[in-house]
Amino acid sequence: MCNHKSIPSRVLSTPSAKAKFELTTIERRDLRPNDVLIDIKFSGICHSDIHSAYDEWGGGIFPMVPGHEIAGVVTAVGGDVTKFAVGDRVGVGCFVDSCGECEYCLIGEEQFCTKGVVQTYNSLDYDGNPTYGGYSQKIVVKEDFVVRIPDNLDLDEASPLLCAGITTYSPLKHWKAGSGKKVAIVGMGGLGHVAIQFAHAMGAEVTVLSRSLSKKEAALSFGADHYFATSDPATFTELAGRFDLILNTVSANLDVDAYLSMLRVDGTLVNVGAPAEQDQYSVFSLIMGRRSIAGSLVGGIRETQEMLDFAAEHGVAPKIEIIRADQVDEAYDRVLRSDVRYRFVIDISTL
Ligand code: NAP
Ligand code: ZN
Repeated sequence: MCNHKSIPSRVLSTPSAKAKFELTTIERRDLRPNDVLIDIKFSGICHSDIHSAYDEWGGGIFPMVPGHEIAGVVTAVGGDVTKFAVGDRVGVGCFVDSCGECEYCLIGEEQFCTKGVVQTYNSLDYDGNPTYGGYSQKIVVKEDFVVRIPDNLDLDEASPLLCAGITTYSPLKHWKAGSGKKVAIVGMGGLGHVAIQFAHAMGAEVTVLSRSLSKKEAALSFGADHYFATSDPATFTELAGRFDLILNTVSANLDVDAYLSMLRVDGTLVNVGAPAEQDQYSVFSLIMGRRSIAGSLVGGIRETQEMLDFAAEHGVAPKIEIIRADQVDEAYDRVLRSDVRYRFVIDISTL
């Protein structure tokens, strides 16, 4: 296996937990036969980047180059590449390798690879080298972990779909959000505002549960049918027993029992939000309505392509604010203050 590295790439790198970002240069590996070289054009800022760069989940590998919402253009391909050619518009999401042989890889759910998926950054590849993500001019990725961005999606708006998109599309589909289903989306940040659009496009009746009323107009414009503020205790009594599915995209802990009380019998609360602290709930909140609590992790490569094609067909488009490389620290602060409308995307030409 060729491990030679000779492709320089400017990156935004953070030297330690909570440190400021610095512009540095790394070397990407030379192309192996199944690799593509991508010139990154846009890279979204996911709240997971902040959890990771602040080392809130532990195990952070520093220096760290976050970014797993990557949109760009192929500039070179290895000799055995068949799916992509120079000039193709492509995306890379949360992982860049998996064993390819386990039962989950074989059914296209690589995120659950039993060997352990190689994440796009803050991970070690199967040769033991740290991975570096999308806040970078270039990236080298195995073609099997690259997806095609449909022609009618702009690269800047497409980038958040590579994580926020698939992370919400996958559970909505798995738990059959669709016509006749009442679905609540909790939290209207990067994931939440895309989830509203997908759930609406799938035909569900969509309710947004946000802390204040300030995002109501925007929520309705994304396709929500109803909107409630969770800061008002009356919301929980009014919506008791209402939903088939609640998708929780919140980056902090919630009063789980209060949210479970809004599920119908057999309803499911699906967590995609990933706060560092443990949740607490009473088993009676489940028992009394045969309810379930579940979780979901991004989605496989095949489903990511399906999600992009679905977004292109149904006009699902993240609402983004494009920033320069020197604004990333400020953008992190703004995400933490929930002052993001609704996804920051780095213009990689400013690196
Ligand atoms: P985000 O843009 O910051 O959105 C999170 C939203 O949660 C905020 O806009 C806010 O919505 C709400 N919120 C924040 N703090 C809150 C608090 N203390 N109490 C109640 N609500 C609060 O973050 P994101 O990028 O969408 O990511 C959300 C979470 O999903 C993160 O934890 C991230 O790590 C996780 N994630 C998981 C996966 C997965 O595969 N499972 C993939 C990607 C991301 P309102 O202002 O509307 O209340
Ligand atoms: Zn993410």
